[in-house]
Amino acid sequence: MSNTADIKTAELPLQPIEKILAVVTASEKHYDIEKIERAFLYAKSLHEGQYRVSGEPYISHPIAVAEIVTSLGLDTDSICAAFLHDTVEDCPDKTSIDILRSRFGDDVAMLVDGLTKMKVINVEDKEEANIENIRKMLLAMSKDIRVIFIKLCDRLHNMRTLGVKAEAKRRATALETMYVYAPLAHRLGMQRIKQELENLALSYLDPIGYAEVSSDIERKYGQNQNFIENTRTYVAEKLEEYDINFTLEGRVKTVYSIYRKMFKQNKSFDEIYDFYAIRIIVNTELECYTALGIIHELFKSIPGRFKDYISTPKPNMYQSLHTTVIGRDGIPFEVQIRTREMHEIAEYGIAAHWKYKSGAKSKEEIDQKLAWISRLIDTENGAADTEDFMQALKIDIFSDETFVFTPKGDVIALPQGATLIDFAYAIHSQVGNRMVGAKINGMIAPIDRVPQTGDIVEILTSSAAKGPSRDWLKIVKTSEARAKIRQWFKKEKRAENIKIGREEIENALARFRVKPTEEQIEEIVSAAAKKLGMADVEDLYNAVGYSGIAMTKVSSKLKQEYERVVKPEEHPITDVEQVQTHELKHRKSTGGIIVDDADGCEVKFAKCCNPLPGDEIIGFVTKGYGISIHKKDCPNAVSGQKNPEQADRWLHAEWDIEEFSSGAKPLYEVGLQIWAENDIRLLSNITTALADMKVTLLGINTKKRTESDIILLLTVGCKNIDHYNSILSRLKNIPHVLNIERGTA
Ligand code: MN
Repeated sequence: MSNTADIKTAELPLQPIEKILAVVTASEKHYDIEKIERAFLYAKSLHEGQYRVSGEPYISHPIAVAEIVTSLGLDTDSICAAFLHDTVEDCPDKTSIDILRSRFGDDVAMLVDGLTKMKVINVEDKEEANIENIRKMLLAMSKDIRVIFIKLCDRLHNMRTLGVKAEAKRRATALETMYVYAPLAHRLGMQRIKQELENLALSYLDPIGYAEVSSDIERKYGQNQNFIENTRTYVAEKLEEYDINFTLEGRVKTVYSIYRKMFKQNKSFDEIYDFYAIRIIVNTELECYTALGIIHELFKSIPGRFKDYISTPKPNMYQSLHTTVIGRDGIPFEVQIRTREMHEIAEYGIAAHWKYKSGAKSKEEIDQKLAWISRLIDTENGAADTEDFMQALKIDIFSDETFVFTPKGDVIALPQGATLIDFAYAIHSQVGNRMVGAKINGMIAPIDRVPQTGDIVEILTSSAAKGPSRDWLKIVKTSEARAKIRQWFKKEKRAENIKIGREEIENALARFRVKPTEEQIEEIVSAAAKKLGMADVEDLYNAVGYSGIAMTKVSSKLKQEYERVVKPEEHPITDVEQVQTHELKHRKSTGGIIVDDADGCEVKFAKCCNPLPGDEIIGFVTKGYGISIHKKDCPNAVSGQKNPEQADRWLHAEWDIEEFSSGAKPLYEVGLQIWAENDIRLLSNITTALADMKVTLLGINTKKRTESDIILLLTVGCKNIDHYNSILSRLKNIPHVLNIERGTA
């Protein structure tokens, strides 16, 4: 023994951790006792001189947490991490994750890191949705579920000793416990921890209600002391007759469970009729049913109250038989019957099964462990339920979402791949619009960086910020951010937009042979604005300025109005274009399309490009099949127009705005070509997204597939180009989707 730590050991026997050492020494599992002692001594030396609010040395807290962790049967590294869980946060000058790694290995460092990151959480004044995000994020962050187990133990001890803290702190911690940690414990089936957390939280959140219910419970037990004792004795005698080895527990209901029942069902304490409960714990499943038979023989059962959670376990793996019967004094009581193993699971949940001989490091390992638990509780009827639970748990642990903290501890959920700009707009459009930079975990980061789950992101804003740049539209991943950026350009740059728009429109008018007078210009532009659905001329200028409307669309309206306002004889017909313009005065909508000089002709949509309302289009006179409408940039249309033989068969065409703004909008087929990484949930994610948007799926095809990638061809029903764009941006946010292009169906 040469180093100081060991000398301390000699001087100070391991009194405080004797309990832990006793448990691990007696255990059949292998524990590294030397490592556990070393972690304790290191934590003790780091926390030296620090005290809890109660006045105790700080180390008493990590010891207590390690004791609870040990009692759950967790492994050496978990116990070490429990000792060390507050050191990185509280003693930053003396230690770090890297130092812990070099002293105690990767696992302990990873566990402490996970526990340290969880401290930023803050649930005060949060909406339910945000709280659900926090729960999800906690699971997502803990790539190793031991982090959650240790965190729950930490929280349990903090709750047990919360009384000495200031009122505001007590309330905040109790709220967080009630909304985040107790539900997590429930989800992991850790009933015992869940109940204690709930009771403690309630005692701080509603001390009066808590005291009232507890004293009611005492009173009722006191009044009916004989009932409980008699029932227990009576049941015990009968079970012994059948030679069943059992344990009988008499007090089952918790203060919180009764409080909640009163609150939810608005009942007085005396109206709660399943107040009494006894629990019978036996050795085998068969004995469970035998015991149930005995109970039903002894007492009259209440119909509809029998539940067999053995053949059908609850989603959190809970197994038990429940029945409610009428006791001999006419008092109803519930009976829960289960095996010891089921009892362990009911009390400790997944932790009861988690064997950490080597520690779960990879997804595959955790999958294996989940599969193992799944097999363990796989019964005929319970299989489906269990699978659902495992699926839910896996999705939570390996979420496709990224959960990022604000500096205040809010959690923002972002789709995978979302950038810091998306994050800024997810907080508030003002934050996005004033963004000048960002920090991830305190370090300056470029605004197109993709944050990771658990990162703390701070957006740097300035009221002097110039606003978003148009490039951001190409960077952002969420449609929310994109829409907000567009919105900004629409609003904030109105003056600039109007200036740009006015110039463009003046240029368009200047192209006419005969320059309209000022009055005519006014009339043309205001009529065109109205027909294009704009409130006034300024709105039209603005829309042109921020590219909210295609200039070609505006030009053709201007041309129509020009023809109406400026009398034909006033402009000499000199060039070809003008001749056509003049001749094409009868324009009639056919199937929502206006085709120059094609009155009453049948119109169909070209299959090669499937144009959508809003696309720039052109018509082609087929031989005997009416006019087929192509997108202007369709390769067939582009090359066709260059062909001199076809030149006169291509006609100007446009969508009939009036028809589209009124009445039911027809659906148009449109093809989507999706490049994606080949992931098992890809297709279901896509179809779910389409169903959410109420988009009709008309066809689906695989174009190409390799080991890793896939190209899917989707045909969907689409109203217009805006609708198409919204579908596109939603689908682009689906994990594993790499790129989407408008394709042929
Ligand atoms: Mn702690």
